[in-house]
Amino acid sequence: MRVAQGTLEVKTRSKFDIIDVTEQVESWLSRVGAGSGLLLVHVPHTTAAIAVNEAEPGLLSDILELLKELTKPGAAWRHNMVDDNAHAHLGNVIIDTSKTLPVAGGKLALGTWQRLLLIEMDGPRVRKLNLVYVGE
Ligand code: ZN
Repeated sequence: MRVAQGTLEVKTRSKFDIIDVTEQVESWLSRVGAGSGLLLVHVPHTTAAIAVNEAEPGLLSDILELLKELTKPGAAWRHNMVDDNAHAHLGNVIIDTSKTLPVAGGKLALGTWQRLLLIEMDGPRVRKLNLVYVGE
């Protein structure tokens, strides 16, 4: 059994953004010699999140619109008196901070339209992705 651990950096481009990190993560899997196993992807942030879905541009805009409707940026959330980003923390709670995914043949075993998506809600920033691979 092999275990590999690493961190990737991802630059987000605006306050709300979705970055397809699938290729970056698969490149890391290749560098560590992954075969078949499991990959944990963890975002060590409280105002960004990780999701698996289709990266069609219209859908990515829809996801951000839904998040804005649900989390109401600029509303009178109590946390906005501290640092004005309550909506991003709430979005993080809704979406979550990690995914565990199957790896086969050194690549993510995703469905045809599935991509690994970093969701930024308080950017632009440099975000980290913690990766832990366990497998053969
Ligand atoms: Zn905050």
